[in-house]
Amino acid sequence: MFFNAKSVSLLLALCIGGVTAAFLSIIPDVSKTGTIVGLMISFSSSFLLTYFVLEFIFFKEIGNIHRQIHELRSNQTTKDVHPELSKKEKNPIVGIKSQIKNYAKMKEDEIAQLKQMEQYRKEFLANISHELKTPIFATQGFILTLLDGAVDDKSVRDRFLKKAAKSLNALNILVEDLLTVSKIEAGEINMEFEEFDLQIMIVDVLEQIEQKAEKKNITVSLEAPSDDPIYINADYNRLKQVVINLVVNGIKYNHKNGWVKVILDVHEDTVTIAVKDNGMGIPHEDQNRIFERFYRVEKSRTKKQGGSGLGLAICKHILERHDAVIQLESVPEEGSTFSFDLTLVKEEEYEDSEL
Ligand code: ADP
Repeated sequence: MFFNAKSVSLLLALCIGGVTAAFLSIIPDVSKTGTIVGLMISFSSSFLLTYFVLEFIFFKEIGNIHRQIHELRSNQTTKDVHPELSKKEKNPIVGIKSQIKNYAKMKEDEIAQLKQMEQYRKEFLANISHELKTPIFATQGFILTLLDGAVDDKSVRDRFLKKAAKSLNALNILVEDLLTVSKIEAGEINMEFEEFDLQIMIVDVLEQIEQKAEKKNITVSLEAPSDDPIYINADYNRLKQVVINLVVNGIKYNHKNGWVKVILDVHEDTVTIAVKDNGMGIPHEDQNRIFERFYRVEKSRTKKQGGSGLGLAICKHILERHDAVIQLESVPEEGSTFSFDLTLVKEEEYEDSEL
């Protein structure tokens, strides 16, 4: 655009010179030479004056402001070191306009993000307080009843002490889970990758969970293409925790006499691990949110089962650290399938690493 100190001064000087010449030409006593001299003097003096004022006061200051805004922005977004500065230097007003617009947009986005984080922090604090309150109040209630005299009755005492111990156990699980989530999120937990046979690990999980399943008369089984080993490279204990969480959920959110299956599907380079149940299922509107910390489908239904509400958040984080994504397919009242893929270690590679 035609907008800098020189061109603006030239335009103004031409106008002033023109007006002066026109004025002189209508005075009868002024000769032609006098008019031309008057025109030249008014043209050059007004050009010099306006140029000086614009260049050294107006545009210089605007240029400085432009540069300062630009520096402020580049400090915040290290990516753009010198965006369009020289191109727009000729017309700093246009530059300033676009810089201010971009800066305001950037700040607006930052504020929106901060507001969202603040909301998230509030929800998280409210959830933690609520979760901690429940077992603490329960334990407090049992102990106060004992102190009020129930301690003298042996059967009541034993029952209440057992209940208090159970509540404290729930509190312990909650705190452990919280620590695990925050450590994984802060990147403080290092995965210890090792090669092992997935089938052996799953059989181990199922044996560990057998008793829990029997209490609800739920059948827990493994379906694999064959008995051949399936070697993977993963953190044994963390992956075991994932499978335990998924199978335990399959039992918890199931009806009596239901089933939970761990299904292994071997492909060329990967193995799909699916934990399938024929339990309550998860409503569509909740399916995207159940991996969030403390998110529960139906508060009352889940509360009875006594989970920390962090199990699936932990599974998601652990699997992310294994470059795996947890998938969910669920139909209410029919059942749910949680699945993820892991990379296989070929048998030859496994044998080589064993040597
Ligand atoms: P919780 O400790 O409450 O079990 P999770 O993070 O493991 O926490 O699960 C979150 C919620 O997802 C549960 O409260 C439950 O409502 C729902 N959910 C998880 N697994 C299943 C499942 N297999 N069937 C039905 N609902 C499930």
